[in-house]
Amino acid sequence: MATITILGSAYAIPNTTHEVTHFVVQGNETGILIDCGSNPTVRLEQANITYDSITDLILTHFHPDHISGAPLMLMNMWLLGRKKPLRIHGLAHCLNNLTKLMQAYEWATWPDFFPVEFYEVPETEEASVLINDEFSIKSSPGNHMVPVIGLRITNSINARILGYSSDTEPDDSIISLVSGANLLIHEATGEGPGHSSASQAGEVASRAKVGCLYLIHYDVHRAQHSQLLVEAQKQFKGSVKLTFDFMRIEL
Ligand SMILES: [Zn+2]
Ligand SMILES: [Zn+2]
Repeated sequence: MATITILGSAYAIPNTTHEVTHFVVQGNETGILIDCGSNPTVRLEQANITYDSITDLILTHFHPDHISGAPLMLMNMWLLGRKKPLRIHGLAHCLNNLTKLMQAYEWATWPDFFPVEFYEVPETEEASVLINDEFSIKSSPGNHMVPVIGLRITNSINARILGYSSDTEPDDSIISLVSGANLLIHEATGEGPGHSSASQAGEVASRAKVGCLYLIHYDVHRAQHSQLLVEAQKQFKGSVKLTFDFMRIEL
């Protein structure tokens, strides 16, 4: 069985109960952290997930709410004595900028740093990101202010599929990527450019014929979160839920 643990569900501005959007997909051997906008040290500890169980980091795009925790996480892993490699996957735009950020921190001078392996994802539809015995992950470009990828994560054991929009306005390549997914985690920041409303997330879920919809990356300062569910449910007849921090979902 694989588990999705939501570590943050907020849009770019977190609050005391909602961190910026990031989550972990765990199998028995593989722990995939998706985005890293805040240092996940505390969130992982609270969720009882060890740093060493994180084998892969997928960065969907180079915006602060999705990557700014990565340098601190890398430093924390190093200080905690990590020896095993960490694989980091993302578009060239994102990986090149992360490398520049780490160079600014002069990380090459940090002694005995554990191996960090960068895997560049091509900016093409249904590009292969990662395949192992537990998961097969593909990505397609979305439509945002900077190059971005959405994800299709297949649990190789039971063939269940998770789609993740990342930050995007409704886009045919993302709809095609997530089509038929059992679960779709879709952003609901508000209508674009570069973002989607809850209603648009519902439309995407409907067009992609997914099993159920989880809204994420929403305005946590807004008083009536339940209104987001109502908006999405007008467009999508399946189950709609609002993600919250530390929510666990089976995949
Ligand atoms: Zn964002
Ligand atoms: Zn963004």
